[in-house]
Amino acid sequence: MGSEGGAVVIGASVAGLTAATVLAQRFAHVTVIERDSLDGSALPRRGVPQGHHPHVLLAAGQRALEELFPGICDEMIAEGAVPFDPGLDLIFHRFGGAWPRARIGMELISFSRPLLDALLYKRISQLSNVVVRPGTAVSGLAGDANRITGVVLGDGTTVDAGLVVDASGRGGRSGRWLADLGCAVPSTVEVNIGVGYASRFLKREPGGEGEALGYFTLPTAPAKRTGILLPVEGDRWLVSMGGWHGDFPRDEAQMLAFAAELPLPQIHTALREAEPLTEVMSMTFPSSKRRYFEKLTAVPAGYVAAGDAVCSFNPIYGQGMTCATLEALALGRLLDRYGGASPDLTRAYYREVGTILTTPWRFAVGGDFVFPETTGPRPRGISLLNGYSKRVQLAARADPEVRKVFTAIQHLLIPPSALFKPSFVLRVLRASKGAQTQQGAQTQQGPQPQQGPQPQQGMQTRQ
Ligand SMILES: Cc1cc2nc3c(=O)[nH]c(=O)nc-3n(C[C@H](O)[C@H](O)[C@H](O)COP(=O)(O)OP(=O)(O)OC[C@H]3O[C@@H](n4cnc5c(N)ncnc54)[C@H](O)[C@@H]3O)c2cc1C
Repeated sequence: MGSEGGAVVIGASVAGLTAATVLAQRFAHVTVIERDSLDGSALPRRGVPQGHHPHVLLAAGQRALEELFPGICDEMIAEGAVPFDPGLDLIFHRFGGAWPRARIGMELISFSRPLLDALLYKRISQLSNVVVRPGTAVSGLAGDANRITGVVLGDGTTVDAGLVVDASGRGGRSGRWLADLGCAVPSTVEVNIGVGYASRFLKREPGGEGEALGYFTLPTAPAKRTGILLPVEGDRWLVSMGGWHGDFPRDEAQMLAFAAELPLPQIHTALREAEPLTEVMSMTFPSSKRRYFEKLTAVPAGYVAAGDAVCSFNPIYGQGMTCATLEALALGRLLDRYGGASPDLTRAYYREVGTILTTPWRFAVGGDFVFPETTGPRPRGISLLNGYSKRVQLAARADPEVRKVFTAIQHLLIPPSALFKPSFVLRVLRASKGAQTQQGAQTQQGPQPQQGPQPQQGMQTRQ
């Protein structure tokens, strides 16, 4: 064991369970404290209401998850999750047409979020030095401004810990908990996007997918509507429709009318004809929110935040689980380097989290500023970046090499600096000119929401 004593994780969702597996290798014992009752079933639960809606894991996240839980991808597939090549198996529509379909050698997996949570929970429950305490709420932190020494539970008892990982999600109360102990509270940036979703599961006849395994359409601003139809385990479709700034359906009738207006008719057909297995569930997501822990000059030792408790993005970009998983890997690496929960570990971890979040935050927030209704701090140079991003996406449709680089960046496999190499810029300008001529005038479009399913040549994601 690299670190003495125990660790506590607040929250048993993706950030909490990925952190728990990392801590189990480095602490004598780990306690995961979860407010919800957990029964191990692959059903949505109260604390993770987004479980009713589609969740795509980016290639970088899938790779990291496999590193943390070897064999998890095969396990998901064995449970009925659907592997797919995003270039070939998914019809993706944008800019007035579908992207060319071609096998690209990236194997992603389509699953429901509750399945992933159930498998992670099963893995964690099998670890002999981890105890999960469901139905238990954390109500504060113990310690002082220099060191967090544990958590205080709702019944007033304390659980001591050498390290507390706060994975309590977007709605977590850690700002108040830290302030109560005299600790500095991170500054928060919020970008208002008014996003909402409505989703439902449908029966999927095996082999009855039609042309492709999945369908996905994104709007070109000023249009704001998106729709997706994905195959998931249990021979089900998960169909979802959403949009920015209030332009999304809230119930079954609105969903049907909305689907009829989408450019991919397959989504409407499935919604109309397939047997519904669940009610329509809707959810709103008013803003992307980031807490800048890395900017704090004084941090207490023994406490780190992870996942949505640090940053919760517009879900249409599909980045949250990937970032949480990358953060868990980083925490493990840094615990090994610093040998335990020192103040240096905390600072180094937040620096690393800042680096992990830089690209996804910039692309998500930047992309949302293509809508004039979006409010909040505008990243510097965003209009320029959005203009170039539009050219890259037009070029990506015409030039497989541009598509490969663009997709690798979207999936957080390579840094966005690749977009700005002079030879690449030239290629983009050339290919996008051709694409514009072929497709006619296009409306303004910024960085593209992350659909996970983006084509890419020659990149293996499953190990
Ligand atoms: C509609 C929607 C769609 C999304 N789609 C995608 C996608 O396609 N791809 C993607 O990568 N991400 C997506 N996300 C984001 C993703 O759901 C989150 O990033 C992910 O769940 C990681 O969050 P987390 O573990 O940090 O927090 P959460 O999932 O919010 O979990 C927090 C946990 O902490 C528990 N908890 C909270 N407070 C306490 C307390 N005081 N004591 C004990 N327990 C507590 C909660 O019960 C919960 O279990 C989507 C989000 C939404 C809203």
